[in-house]
Amino acid sequence: MLHVFGHKSPDTDSICSAIAYAYLKNQVGEEAKAFRLGETNNETKLVLGRFEMDAPPLLKSVAGKDVVLVDHNEFEQSADDIEKANIVEVIDHHKIKFSWDKPIYMLVMPVGSTATIIAKKFIWKGVKIPQEIAGILLSAILSDTVIFKSPTTTEEDREVARELAKIAEIEDIEAWGVEMFKAKSAISEKSAREMIYNDYKTYDFSGRKVLIGQLEVVDDGEVLKRKEEIMEEMKKVKEEEGLFAVLLLVTDIMKEGSTALLVADDVKPFEMAFNVKFENGQAWLVGVMSRKKQVVPPLECVFKN
Ligand code: MG
Ligand code: MG
Ligand code: MG
Repeated sequence: MLHVFGHKSPDTDSICSAIAYAYLKNQVGEEAKAFRLGETNNETKLVLGRFEMDAPPLLKSVAGKDVVLVDHNEFEQSADDIEKANIVEVIDHHKIKFSWDKPIYMLVMPVGSTATIIAKKFIWKGVKIPQEIAGILLSAILSDTVIFKSPTTTEEDREVARELAKIAEIEDIEAWGVEMFKAKSAISEKSAREMIYNDYKTYDFSGRKVLIGQLEVVDDGEVLKRKEEIMEEMKKVKEEEGLFAVLLLVTDIMKEGSTALLVADDVKPFEMAFNVKFENGQAWLVGVMSRKKQVVPPLECVFKN
């Protein structure tokens, strides 16, 4: 049986793409089941609730299992024992940092969400998309593209989203997107540690490990008033995990930019990458909404040199 799952610290795209792809596999006669590698966030809970679906079960170990990776390809972001699994497929929309000793099916497209690619696969395979699957795929597109505001958004995402909205019978896509982001923004009850690990990825930049977390909020003031507490916790996380740096992006989807909070052995590479000065570990990054398109590439470039 194929085990289909997205990255650690799963977002809506990782959960919904896994569910939809496992469904598609079963429709074409391949046994598959969706899993998750961590707790679902508030936004994903709202999405699954609206379309009356359960979160996939938690997968603890993948050793010896046939697996399909969706919404990620870097082992750093996958199951801890991913190298002991048998990777059969990768469906993703991130930069590729992947090598495997066997031929595999790999489908990577530079679109706004993995859900866009999965929806296309239904069409290619001639499989009808059920209403609730259309609903969760649409939601994943809205989540990853920040309601089409992120620079990662492509015309294909918009087109696919329109088709999915028809099937899901969602008339006001925008309104549903805002409702989702409000759920995601509900962080007042979160601890500083939960904020850091809410949506994070760890990257290896030429041997230096950097954890990059992101909070997408409707009003950044609510987070930033707790800055001291959050930065104290970032220091602890950095020590515990033996990291070069912990970077937390507080993305305000209304202001369309991010406040970067940084705890690092050296802030210079970050200042060079973003062309800003960090004051007390804080800097405003104008127009920055996408970690993978606007944050990771410049850091990769600076750390390489
Ligand atoms: Mg993701
Ligand atoms: Mg994604
Ligand atoms: Mg995201």
